[in-house]
Amino acid sequence: MDTQVINGVELAAEIRLQILDKVKILKKTTGIIPGLSVILVGNDPASNVYVKSKQKAAMEIGMNAVDYLLPETVKDSDVIQLIKNLNSDESVHGILVQLPLPENLSKTKIIDSIDPNKDVDGLHTLNMGKLMTGRQIFPPATPYGIQKILLSAGVSVSSKHVVVLGRSEIVGKPISLLMSQKGVMGDATVTVCHSKTRNIESITNQADILIAAIGMPNFVTGSMVKDGVVVIDVGINRVVDAQNRRGYKLVGDVFFEEVSKKASVITPVPGGVGPMTIAMLLENTFKSASISSL
Ligand code: NAP
Repeated sequence: MDTQVINGVELAAEIRLQILDKVKILKKTTGIIPGLSVILVGNDPASNVYVKSKQKAAMEIGMNAVDYLLPETVKDSDVIQLIKNLNSDESVHGILVQLPLPENLSKTKIIDSIDPNKDVDGLHTLNMGKLMTGRQIFPPATPYGIQKILLSAGVSVSSKHVVVLGRSEIVGKPISLLMSQKGVMGDATVTVCHSKTRNIESITNQADILIAAIGMPNFVTGSMVKDGVVVIDVGINRVVDAQNRRGYKLVGDVFFEEVSKKASVITPVPGGVGPMTIAMLLENTFKSASISSL
């Protein structure tokens, strides 16, 4: 099988360059510089890395990016007060709260305190509702990135059987909705699997397009997919690797060595969906800034 391995790093770099040009034009014509604020609570090392890479990527394309690093001991009210301040700050166009939050905090209360017009992660209840009806302003970044990957690989979703592993609010649910909507990048028949799904292998074997977002290293093996399947691996899992100087390496939810032998298109981990998530977040931030200029 001739397998197309998606280079998410390259694709994301191309998209960031396009946004850079648009940022320059926006600045020149309106004086507006898109501003992104990222809030991180606690010291999770992986979240720290993601937040830093988001800030770096935003600044590289001429956006303003400020990170707010809060201790694990903060209360809901502290985070919400910070968000209220950012909501009323005209130089801020995008507000993102890095998930997961520590257990003592209410994710729903915090996310829903973000101004929906600055919710560039698309996770506010109102924006999730709009997604349900196909009227979303900001598609959640990871699903949006998946759509761009499929588009760039020339994969049409229409009439395909898409199997989504995972039903999280940031990946599984929104990508299932987007793909089952009417229209371009939709019109698929979607099956969503989760931890209570029985005979998962019999379902994944029917997938024309398989999207894995469950957070279990190498879960999808070669016997679980049919020849020619398109595979999008969202999972980012750390596994022990004594050869690596960090003592671990990143792997996806898909056993790449086996599945890539049968797939027509596949995303690697790292270097697949991850960089696209950041690029789409920047795209949403740019969109929010342009809307604010109208
Ligand atoms: P999550 O909130 O961790 O939830 C996991 C989902 O997988 C749940 O719906 C769960 O089912 C399901 N699941 C768990 N074990 C399963 C099994 N054995 N069989 C079938 N389904 C199973 O999900 P997430 O936040 O979407 O994260 C998933 C993975 O994607 C993680 O590795 C995360 O790091 C990664 N991620 C990557 C990006 C990126 O930019 N590349 C972005 C976001 C997330 P239940 O609902 O029944 O519990």
